[in-house]
Amino acid sequence: MDEKKSKELAFEEMVDTMREEVELKLQRMFGRTLKTATDAQLYKAMATLLRDRVMEKWAYSKEMEYETNGRQMYYLSMEFLMGRLFGNNLMNLGLDQQVAQVCKELKIDLDKVRDSEPDAGLGNGGLGRLAACFLDSLATLGLEGHGNGIRYEYGLFKQKIVDGYQVEVPDPWLEDGNIWEIAKPEEPEIISFGGTIERRIEKGKEVVKYCDAQCVKAIPYDVPVVGYDSEVVNTLRLWSARAIKPMDMGLFGQGRYVDSVAEKELAETITKVLYPEDNHPEGKSLRLKQQYFFVSASIQSIYRKFKKAGNNIFDFHKKVAIHINDTHPALGIPELMRILMDKEGLDWEDSWRITCQTFAYTNHTILEEALEKWPQELFKSLLPRIYEIVHEINEIFCRDLWKKYPGEWEKIGSMAIISYGTVHMSKLAIAGSYSVNGVAKLHTDILKEDVFRDFYQACPSKFRAITNGVTHRRFLAKANAELADLITGYIGEDWMKAPQDLERLKTYAKDSSFQKNVAEIRLKNKESLAEHIENQYGIQVNPESIFDVQVKRLHEYKRQLMNAMHIMFLYNKILDNPNFPMHPRTFIFGAKAAPGYHNAKMIIKLIHSLAKKINNDPRVKDKIKIVFMENYRVSLAEKIIPASDVSEQISTAGKEASGTGNMKFMFNGALTIGTLDGANVEMKEAVGNDNMYIFGLTSEEVSQYYREGHYRPYEIYETNPELRLVLDQFVNGFLDSEHPDTFRGLYEGLLYGHYGMADPYFVLKDFEPYCQAHTRLGLEYKKPDIWWEKAILNIAAAGIFSSDRTIRDYNQQVWKLPFVKTK
Ligand SMILES: *Cc1c(COP(=O)(O)O)cnc(C)c1O
Repeated sequence: MDEKKSKELAFEEMVDTMREEVELKLQRMFGRTLKTATDAQLYKAMATLLRDRVMEKWAYSKEMEYETNGRQMYYLSMEFLMGRLFGNNLMNLGLDQQVAQVCKELKIDLDKVRDSEPDAGLGNGGLGRLAACFLDSLATLGLEGHGNGIRYEYGLFKQKIVDGYQVEVPDPWLEDGNIWEIAKPEEPEIISFGGTIERRIEKGKEVVKYCDAQCVKAIPYDVPVVGYDSEVVNTLRLWSARAIKPMDMGLFGQGRYVDSVAEKELAETITKVLYPEDNHPEGKSLRLKQQYFFVSASIQSIYRKFKKAGNNIFDFHKKVAIHINDTHPALGIPELMRILMDKEGLDWEDSWRITCQTFAYTNHTILEEALEKWPQELFKSLLPRIYEIVHEINEIFCRDLWKKYPGEWEKIGSMAIISYGTVHMSKLAIAGSYSVNGVAKLHTDILKEDVFRDFYQACPSKFRAITNGVTHRRFLAKANAELADLITGYIGEDWMKAPQDLERLKTYAKDSSFQKNVAEIRLKNKESLAEHIENQYGIQVNPESIFDVQVKRLHEYKRQLMNAMHIMFLYNKILDNPNFPMHPRTFIFGAKAAPGYHNAKMIIKLIHSLAKKINNDPRVKDKIKIVFMENYRVSLAEKIIPASDVSEQISTAGKEASGTGNMKFMFNGALTIGTLDGANVEMKEAVGNDNMYIFGLTSEEVSQYYREGHYRPYEIYETNPELRLVLDQFVNGFLDSEHPDTFRGLYEGLLYGHYGMADPYFVLKDFEPYCQAHTRLGLEYKKPDIWWEKAILNIAAAGIFSSDRTIRDYNQQVWKLPFVKTK
């Protein structure tokens, strides 16, 4: 029998098996049949039968891991923005076609089933999604790298829009159960907070005792991480807090029922909810508790597993690499020191040597307000033993610096981990790691030259750039299956595991039938997004219009406001001249604002006021539409991005460390309008200046303005009448005639500044070049052969932005894990 025939038979067999299994699972799990089951029950039945297969693979993978006892990497992150797992696991196990066939035969609506899965929204934005993409690539490449994080009972809030304003609603994503997690209550770790430290001499050795600490139990919930076409199944271990005593029986016996469970409530608060601030840490004691809770649980369990395998403690750093995703898990450094000294009995020097060869740190931002700091007193009272260790690390660190830079007090002070009553987490992370990396070339250059200049000069070999990436399997193959099939038809399927192969598409960039196919798929995706928009918001958008999209967290540095001002500019142009030449545009936004971030929330309101005005104005009908997509999240990104023509990546240069949204769009063939910021710089290098719309200040120019303090936005306002009109419309009742002062705060922030400088993100300065870039883009859209050639060249050059490449870079330069040999 030939290979093709046997493949077909295997396919049919799998379809038959799974068809029967779906019906059996429904009966056994819910006592329902296909006719009587709900969509949610169908989802659970199908996810469970998929999970059964994942579990079998996991078992083999774990056994192999145990037997080889090879080097493991643990990725510690406060956030894992996983999104939905069903469709991804289907694709990675190579069962998507079979399940589609089963659904067809049983008349099950697979899309509805998929939509029954809640997003695992355990993250804010790019940083959390990066961690999720890394897990996918690690498993796919056959590397043993595991995630460790927090099992928040409530993920990132759901966003509702009421009267144009964002309203936050809780996200109880676990309410209906979570098919993908396996609770391990039999493997708890104990975490201690507060209390005092006592020292005693026992058998001639000093022993450290923790007295009167409040202890909390950490329960692991393990989620299997399946790679694409891979035998390796890794583990995402999420920790949940439990009280050690479920209830105080003494108080209960006295009839004090509420008091009797107070301690339990307090303990379980730790993992209740994700802090919703992106690029802006909350300096609250509960946040510090969350950090220590999950870091301590992770390190204790890593140590436990290491010991159980019978390893020698002096080999710890040879068997274990621990990566910290930003400084949030930096307490892992003193925590490992604590375990090595207080549990293992090593001395300081050996413990420090091992620790410094175990940890690696990724910096994610240079925004001053995002660098983590803790008040020394809070730190000390919550984590007394950890404080002692950090204090000692700092003493020794500063003493060494003194030898290196005798007399240079200022330099040493600026590098100190503890100074002026504050604990600086980034300095702790740098001091305790063997590798520090930025997430794009430009970002790393700024770290070296500016933020961490002194550290870089003291130890240049520690620093490196490793550019972020995204999993092209989720964001292209899964999100845009038709485009993926088309690509495979032209260049074969190897690009799924070797994304560099997308380069082969270059040959077809001018091929008119390939162009036509790409354009048709885009149009289909736009039609289905248009249908979704009409159903959700009752707004009719024209699928033939340019879909111009900005989806990402709302932040002033990301400049959604500049995008909105450009729309106002176009609107004014059309009112002024009804024959103003422009191809119809649909502007699509999606963005959550941190609940306490006033300006960000006002920008959301402004976009809604503008949408209300423009969408209802017959004079611009068919020319401009604005859609704000509520509750932007991973599953929505997967719907929007494949339907996008234009990707807005317009942050103030120097502010966006990398960006990863930009890469998702590139894989789907959207053209980028953007600044020379973050990974946009490398996208330009990869695809060429002619295939992007680059505009605006460079990061050097921005930093020069900051240094010299001579930026005068008011002068731009006075000299550019079109911009002036737009700004005046913020406050003259144009946007909201009943409440003309709604946007006065934004207006004044741009022209005068409230506390600091006016327009600190250079919206006015970049406005004109931004409008010009849009004009260029609009003209090119009218030439389909040019537009689609550029789109294809973008896809062809996107390969280096796969997280597969990123993970290979980390592994080569930092982790040095062996590739698991299978079969
Ligand atoms: C990729 C992604 C982000 C990051 O987008 P940027 O444009 O890089 O800020 C944020 N949120 C979600 C849901 C994402 O999928």
